[in-house]
Amino acid sequence: MTGTAGPPSDGSGLADLPLRPELVGEEPYGAPQLDVPYRLNVNENPYPPSAVVIADIAAAAATAATEMNRYPDREARALRADLATYLGHGLTADQIWAANGSNEVMLHVLGAFAGPGRSVLSFAPTYSMYPEYARDTHTTWLTAPRQDDFTIDPDRAVAAIKEHRPDVVFVTSPNNPTGTAVALDTLIKIIEAAPGVIIVDEAYYEFARAGTPSALELLPRFPRLAVTRTMSKAFAFAGGRLGYLAASAAFVDALRIIRLPYHLSAVTQAVARVALAHADELLARVADLRAARDELAVWLAGQGLEVAESDANFILFGRFPDRHAVWQGLLDRGVLIRETGPDGWLRVSAGTPAEMTAFKDALETVLKETR
Ligand SMILES: *Cc1c(COP(=O)(O)O)cnc(C)c1O
Repeated sequence: MTGTAGPPSDGSGLADLPLRPELVGEEPYGAPQLDVPYRLNVNENPYPPSAVVIADIAAAAATAATEMNRYPDREARALRADLATYLGHGLTADQIWAANGSNEVMLHVLGAFAGPGRSVLSFAPTYSMYPEYARDTHTTWLTAPRQDDFTIDPDRAVAAIKEHRPDVVFVTSPNNPTGTAVALDTLIKIIEAAPGVIIVDEAYYEFARAGTPSALELLPRFPRLAVTRTMSKAFAFAGGRLGYLAASAAFVDALRIIRLPYHLSAVTQAVARVALAHADELLARVADLRAARDELAVWLAGQGLEVAESDANFILFGRFPDRHAVWQGLLDRGVLIRETGPDGWLRVSAGTPAEMTAFKDALETVLKETR
């Protein structure tokens, strides 16, 4: 839960502490974590691991426990080698970085390449966490707008980069919360214009339509490019907290300078390797989730709603004069989605057939009530 206690009157409250001024009044990140029957709000893969994977995770944790008195491998070499193999594209372990979720990877990137007097630019609307990483690393946060259909216009993107000369550019593809994938030729223009480092956040890449190219293809050409991925979404491993990045070995060396020592626990490293060994099984539902997404898009459009084209495992839809009322109406029926994105829009994750039916039934009722 995200609730904050009321201010104590004895001088021991948050307001009495010498907090950094830019953090005063800030709330911790918080998609609500509510215990409801249908959770379609944070783009998790709804399918839990099989008994075989659970047993292998438990065995790996038990083995790690036998050396729990020792620090883990600081460089997570075995895990990074496995991640390189999973990604392919001729990548090697020294070109891979891993951390506790790709959120931590991004923080490492800004720690190494941004900071006071530097800036990071992205294309809005986009991932709500980026401005928080910027704030936390004392970096100036800049945005350039996407088009009305949420694509990035290459000429406007290049113009924004030339105007601001950001030290870091984040391009999210497929984008969150809109689901929009970025074409490789647009990406190339952005990379060629950017004076600093470029991060392509491919958290949802596995859900993209067949034939959608990955920015990994561009790594050999652009030494200041990095591509981030996560095991939290397609991989059905959000609870394992493992995100990673592919770039040049030199780029990875920069991140190694600023990471905390032993940042990836022995248990995290061991169980992530188990998950990678079972990649085929864990990714098996991706095709089902893509199909659920596409069916839902058609259904939503059939309700007379606007639907953003999505290459991710969620859909942004709208527009509602009072989106909060729609969100609340769904929650009252046990369906939790996300109130995010531009005004009037809502985001729903692709789920199991039962979850999709529950969402559609609830939305039909809510639409009747609110229209
Ligand atoms: C979910 C998400 C991530 C992944 O976060 P983790 O820390 O790896 O769980 C990264 N980027 C975007 C845009 C996301 O939506």
